[in-house]
Order: sequence, then structure tokens, then C-alpha cells
Amino acid sequence: MKIVFATGEALPFIKSGGLADVLGSLPKALAAKGHECIVIIPKYADIKMADELEYVTNFYLWVGWRRCYCGVFKAVVDGVTYYFVDNEQYFKRPGLYGYDDDNERFAFYDFAVLECLSRLDIMPDILSLHDWQAAMIAPLYKERYAYYDYYGGVKLTFTIHNIAYQGKCDPKLLTDLFGLDNYLYYNGNVRNDDCMNMMKAAIVYSDAITTVSPSYANEILTDAYGEGLQSILGMRRHDLYGILNGVDYDTINPATDPEVEYNFDITNWKEMKAKNKEALQKEVGLPVDPEVCLIGIVTRLTWQKGLDLIINRMEEMMKRRVQFVILGSGDDRYEEPLKTIAAYHGDKISLNLKYDFGLSCRIYASCDAFLMPSLFEPCGLSQMMSMRYGTVPIVRETGGLRDSVQPFNEYDETGTGFSFTNYNAHEMLNIIDYALYIFYDYPEKWDGLVERAMQAQLDWDKSSDEYLRVFNSLLD
Ligand code: ADP
Repeated sequence: MKIVFATGEALPFIKSGGLADVLGSLPKALAAKGHECIVIIPKYADIKMADELEYVTNFYLWVGWRRCYCGVFKAVVDGVTYYFVDNEQYFKRPGLYGYDDDNERFAFYDFAVLECLSRLDIMPDILSLHDWQAAMIAPLYKERYAYYDYYGGVKLTFTIHNIAYQGKCDPKLLTDLFGLDNYLYYNGNVRNDDCMNMMKAAIVYSDAITTVSPSYANEILTDAYGEGLQSILGMRRHDLYGILNGVDYDTINPATDPEVEYNFDITNWKEMKAKNKEALQKEVGLPVDPEVCLIGIVTRLTWQKGLDLIINRMEEMMKRRVQFVILGSGDDRYEEPLKTIAAYHGDKISLNLKYDFGLSCRIYASCDAFLMPSLFEPCGLSQMMSMRYGTVPIVRETGGLRDSVQPFNEYDETGTGFSFTNYNAHEMLNIIDYALYIFYDYPEKWDGLVERAMQAQLDWDKSSDEYLRVFNSLLD
């Protein structure tokens, strides 16, 4: 099967969040099973290994009334072909998103993907679209390109990685950028809440919709989690599939990770994690203490990630025998209170307000527990990485956190982490207290937890088969 993936980001070339991890590892897993996988991303200024890309071709395309240059570059990594669509006006800037003209930049990208299919002769069986950046490819294909001779027969899937980011914009852009008829707005195909909505358009026009965990697939059908798209998703619920993301066990591997000082596996984790803990405490300026429970947090600082709960209970948690190492960047509304608390408790909290890949790996490898009390979590990769590195997750039971962390049962000694149900600061504190009780009073039970977490099967093997099942059902 030939599959083309359209996404705003993919490892190993560029990453702003979990989307890049998924698009770096799912195509690789499918390629290893013998399928031809092609990923198309913008050629940002920050693309890694930019000097090693091979120039392929260039052409001009139309974005509404704008005639735009489009260069194409190529690289092949782990059996997956990556194409980079180049337009310096749109993409030769720092970072990925957050510019005033993002709608225009990604309209260009959407046309570039569709043009590449014919100009590079890579017409796929499945065109797999990811999040709002690629969403408008679905109506463009179904309303225009499917009628061109070369294009018929491609099946479209749309994957929702986070329904909170929908690509809402002015309805005028439907014609101005995408050259599509206004009636698609008035008949509701691309409209939600009186504005144009790219994600809704993809939900309407795609042959199947997937999202990144089974629990999240159920949650987004409800008023509480659907972010206004629950009705249209309800209408398409028979074509909606929840498939848990995996992590790439080749790169997310404590035995080989070059960012980790003392590599380890299931046979020597206890000794090596203790050494890593000491090294991390020194690195982030915490008192070296092998006995204390060190809790890690690696996150974007946004409302989604449960920071309100953490900030609400942090003073109280400082009365416990714990240390926290926090790595994150984002909203001032969370950075400022965290700075204040950390200033008073420098001996217990190390606050690192930045994006730092190496430090994130060392936190996963060195801490005893990892806290992730999200308000909502489509899948979440951080808890899976921490489990792989023997760091016990403490999570809220939502979305992919519920599907990937099995709650600890102290009587039959099962489970891979700790979890609580309601978005409530006291519930979170209770479960942290319970985790600390097991950590300090029942170290052998804690060790069992660590080993079960390390052995949890959260790679792509099963999940990539589930994607194939969806793809095959469309081709049948
Ligand atoms: P989301 O995609 O919603 O941010 P995920 O848990 O799915 O959440 O993925 C987050 C990814 O980004 C993980 O790989 C995590 O390690 C990484 N990450 C988040 N914040 C930082 C940071 N400040 N520094 C380094 N890596 C980070």
C-alpha cells in the first residue's frame, strides 16, 4: 500500500509537540511492514539536516489568486521518503506556527501537497491528513482535484491529534485562499459557530476519521470535550476510530539514549537510575539526596496540562518529603506563579522554563515518578516515555492517559502507574500521597511498578496494524 502523510511537522526534521513524534514513528513502523510511506512537510528555516536534503524540482501553483513558487526537496530516512515543500516567503522564518498569516502559509502547503502527488508521480492509495494544518486538503481534493484525470480514487483519512486547535478563520478565506465556492460555507460543510473551520471541513470530507486514543474518540463525542465539533463527529461516529499512539522504541530507549549519562535496561535499572538521579539533582541545582522521591514534570505550560491543579496544591506538596524538577515553557499565567513558588522552595523545586530536549530525556530517565494531571489528553507521549525509562506516571484518567497507564493495585500487585478520576486538586494530592506512601513504605512494591512500567508494550507494533485495518477497510 502507498500512503502519503500530510503534516505540519515530523521528526527527525522538525518538532514542536507530540504530532512530530507520531509522524516520525508511525510511517517508519508501516514502512518496516512493507508499505511505501511518504511524508510531506514545509521546508521551515529550522529544519534539521537542511544541508543534506536533495533538490528535486520546482513549479508554480495558485493559492487563490496568488501565484506562488514551490520548490521540492527530498530525504530518505529509515525507509520513509520525506518531501519538503519550499517557499521562503512563507517558511523561511523561525519556529513553525503562530504567525498572523498562518492560514495563508498552510493554504500554500495544502495546495503544494496536492500538486506534489501528480508532479512527482506519487499518487497514493491513502492520503493521511493530520490536524488543521493539513485539514483543507480534504475539501480541496473532494471538491476539485478528484475531478482531474490523474487524481481519482485516493482515499482520505483525517487524524485529530488535538481537537482544541481547529483552524478557525474568516469565511472570506474560503474563496480568497482556497478558491472554493462560498456555498460550501453556507451549506455548513466548512462552517462551525459562524466561522470557517478547517477541522470541521476535514471531518465532513474525509473517508475516515481517526484520533489518537480510544478514550479520546469517545470523549470528543461529548459536549465536555468536543470543543463544538461533537455534533458533526456524532454524525460521522461510524467512521471514527480511536487508535492509541505508540512511541518509537528504537529512539526512546534508555539502553541507548545518548542524552542519558548512565544507560540502563530492565536488568540494571536500579543502580543506573540512582546514578542518573544524582547527576540530575546536580544538573538542576537540587540537593543530592538518593532517598527522596523525585517527581518530574515535562510539559507545554498551557491550560490543557493540569497546571491549575499543580499550582493550587504546590504549597501543600512542599510539606511532603519530595523534590520536583519541572521543565516547560508557555503561558505567563503559569510561568509567573511557578516562579514565585520555586523562589520560596529552591531546595525542593527546580524550575526550568525552556524547551530542552536533552534535559527532558534526563528527567524521564532519572526521576522516580512523573506527574501529568491533564484536563484533557488526546494521547500524551510524555507518560509513555517516562514509563519506558522506569519513571512511574501519576496521571488523570482522561484520553490516552487512561488508555496507556494501568492503575496500581497494591493487593494483586498489578498496574503501571497511579491515576485519579476527577479534575480536582484534592484528588490529585490524594493520589500523590498514596504514591509517596508506596514509594517510602513498600519499596519492593514500587520496584515491581517500575519494572511493569518499563515492560509495558507501548510501541507501534499493534497500533500500526490498527491503522492498516482502517486503511484496508477503505480500499476494500
Ligand atoms: P503535547 O503534544 O500535547 O505537547 P505530548 O505528551 O503528546 O503532549 O508530547 C509532548 C512532547 O514534547 C514530548 O515528547 C515531550 O517530551 C516534549 N516536550 C514538551 N515540553 C518540552 C520541553 N519544555 N522541553 C523538551 N521537550 C518537551
